Amino acid sequence: MSDRLPGFSTLAVHAGAQPDPTTGARATPIYQTTSFVFNDADHAASLFGLQAFGNIYTRIGNPTNAVLEERVAALEGGTAALAVASGHAAQVVVLQQLLQPGDEFIAARKLYGGSINQFTHAFKSFGWNVVWADPDDIASFERAVTPRTKAIFIESIANPAGSITDIEAISTVARKAGVPLIVDNTLASPYLIRPIDHGADIVVHSLTKFLGGHGNSLGGIIVDAGTFDWSTGGKYPMLSEPRPEYHGIRLQETFGNFAFAIACRVLGLRDLGPALSPFNAFMILTGIETLPLRMQRHCDNAKAVAEFLAGHPAVASVSYAGLPSDKYNQLARKYAPRGAGAVFTFSLKGGYDAGVSLVSKLQLFSHLANVGDTRSLVIHPASTTHSQLDDAAKIKSGAGPDVVRLSVGIEDKEDLIADLEQALGA
Ligand SMILES: *Cc1c(COP(=O)(O)O)cnc(C)c1O
Repeated sequence: MSDRLPGFSTLAVHAGAQPDPTTGARATPIYQTTSFVFNDADHAASLFGLQAFGNIYTRIGNPTNAVLEERVAALEGGTAALAVASGHAAQVVVLQQLLQPGDEFIAARKLYGGSINQFTHAFKSFGWNVVWADPDDIASFERAVTPRTKAIFIESIANPAGSITDIEAISTVARKAGVPLIVDNTLASPYLIRPIDHGADIVVHSLTKFLGGHGNSLGGIIVDAGTFDWSTGGKYPMLSEPRPEYHGIRLQETFGNFAFAIACRVLGLRDLGPALSPFNAFMILTGIETLPLRMQRHCDNAKAVAEFLAGHPAVASVSYAGLPSDKYNQLARKYAPRGAGAVFTFSLKGGYDAGVSLVSKLQLFSHLANVGDTRSLVIHPASTTHSQLDDAAKIKSGAGPDVVRLSVGIEDKEDLIADLEQALGA
């Protein structure tokens, strides 16, 4: 064996996986079972008391899911990870470990439309209060900090316009406030940005998007950076205080730099229940093997499409951080030197009606509410994903009435450009 540390593409194929010890199967098997036989009564008791690691029941853990967890933890540079049923489930499970009713968290205003809804409505009913800040104005995060602030939540590459967030600057605010920084890295994937390298304490993903990559399986994941000290000032009792259901152990004390991932599993997943199906874990693992190849092609195609649109007479403006003229280009060069992702927006001179018409004329681009598929996708956020927001909030979150969002796939870029040309011109 050489002492070289494996590179990103090698990890994408191999991390967490071994040939199956019983059958020799080289691909990770789908362990389609709800439960696992104990060796004996002592073994069962030690598993339930968290004194030993092992499989009990698929709601809490599964060997196929474990390979996925180890792989994404390796790609993100974290200490451990927990796979769950969807990106939204990951967000609930993370915040459940951090917030008590009446607590607050600060979130960047530019977010996936579903996250804006989840934070505004569902989380409010749990007594978790979101305070919005502007990712382009770092001081707005500082101003939002109160004694009840328990976390800061941002997207690395933000929906819908593909803007780049200054993770290091916001991490400095989080450090000063003594709260963890949570980064939703869905649109970048660890191939483009590794938020932990820039100060993130927790990374979440919708695996449904670029990591799975083929538009066929929902999933989510939480990565623990192992960087945050949960013991300070009793601010995070789920982690620092004795757990009555586990013989009074304190998770931070017992599990150290992967205590957060353990809390998400044994308190979040166990009690809330959003387990990932092992079949979906298998599909997503297969997708991750080609992540570096796909992601580079997504970015190269997106840049070519953005350049074409920027030169088209029907287009008023293009927001793609990979264009040298874009206001996020400096940040893109710093955080995402391999490419600025494949999700971005542009606006049409013809406004709302032109947006609706374009979407109906495109043939190769599918009109649907998803991103990060091999196929190219298009949506008009103002009439769909962001339709619940009022006009001012739409504009603030980058989803004004004239805006169209693309998720550029891995087809031939010439075909994508030809499709846009016919739809814009006709
Ligand atoms: C899709 C998405 C989510 C939600 O993920 P689901 O898997 O659909 O629950 C969260 N954040 C971002 C950036 C997304 O694109």
